[in-house]
This record gives sequence, structure tokens and C-alpha cells, in this order.
Amino acid sequence: MKYLYTTDLEEPVVFPEKALEEMKKVPGVVFTTGKYCEYARPLLDIGWAIQVHTHPRFFGYEHDKLKHISDVGVLKSIIEADRTAVEKTLNVKTTCFRAGKLSMNPIVEEAVRKLGFLADSSRLVPHVFRLTPYWEPYMHNGLLEIPIVHCLDREDKDINFNLKRIWIGLTASAPVVCLLHHPKRVIERPSVVSWLSRLGTFISIDQVIEEYRC
Ligand SMILES: [Zn+2]
Repeated sequence: MKYLYTTDLEEPVVFPEKALEEMKKVPGVVFTTGKYCEYARPLLDIGWAIQVHTHPRFFGYEHDKLKHISDVGVLKSIIEADRTAVEKTLNVKTTCFRAGKLSMNPIVEEAVRKLGFLADSSRLVPHVFRLTPYWEPYMHNGLLEIPIVHCLDREDKDINFNLKRIWIGLTASAPVVCLLHHPKRVIERPSVVSWLSRLGTFISIDQVIEEYRC
């Protein structure tokens, strides 16, 4: 099993040395908002990829869901504002998007595609007990969709996660599984990263894009 390890950063987070030591072992991805992207710098320094994360609450909206905005032009402008802030602050180029609260629909997807992103990772696979390998990344209208198979919200004793990974392992030969691990959880139990690395190989977002984009 190949893992794409991701986290989201949308508030001030200070990663302790102990967490960074663990996180350094994997080619992770942090999706960050323009507002707080400075807090992602330690992850950039340990070699992680920086990508774009948009929460409309930082743009004056009372709600926090992109799918509640129906104008593609407006969506493009707020996502682009985040992208510009992230790229300028951290001096990186971004290729992938994740919607805040995983709030995605075809209109948001259109905005992301029109902005030239290569990939989007804003959809959670609800449950995995089916035969089709729908947890795998797939091309959709020119955009690579990387579904999130699992949020590691609990810890390494997560029965739900273990059942899913066993099932995926049985039904596919070299599946790519996108994980979402919240910063607070990594900080609480950084050893989960080591535990995961004994279960499979980690690959980078660039490798996923290269392997699945056609
Ligand atoms: Zn978020």
C-alpha cells in the first residue's frame, strides 16, 4: 500500500521538534490557507510540499463552505488570493487544492480547474466496503481527483482505519491511499507516523500526479 500523507493548516499551529522529527520521515503535503501559511514554514523546511487550502470564513463570509458560493468568478478570486499569498509568502509553486471543510461541488471544481490546478483533494471516500477501487486517484474533466480515504482522527488503534486498510490491501495490488491527519493529532501522537510507515510506503504528491495524470 502506498500512502499520500496530508494535513491541513488553517489556524496558528506550532509544531514541536518531536512532531517535526517524525513528520520529516515522510514526503507529506500541507494544505494551507493564505492567512496562516507562515505556520507551515517548518514543514517546508523538512521537505514537505505546500499546497492551497481555502476557507471562505477568512474572506468575510459567515459560513465556511465554498459550495455555498455559486459564482465561479467569486470562487476563483478567493482561491486565487489564497494561492498567491501561499506562493509569495513561502516562495513555492502550488499545483493542488483542498477545499476548507471538504466543501466541494461541480462549481467549486470548475473554479479550481480554471485556475490551472493539476489536482484536487477535497472529497472524502465515505466508506470503503465496495469492490471498485474508487479510493484511487482519478482524472475528471482534466483535473486529477485524489479522494481522501481516511482522516486519522483518532490514534493508531483506529479500528475503522485498520479495517479499511486491510480491505483495500485485499482488493488492490498497489493502491494509493490519501490520508488526512490533523495537525493537533500529529502533535498529540507523532509516533503514528512511524507506525504508518511500517504498514506501507509513502509517496509524494508529485509522484501521485505523475502516476495518475494522463
Ligand atoms: Zn481546513
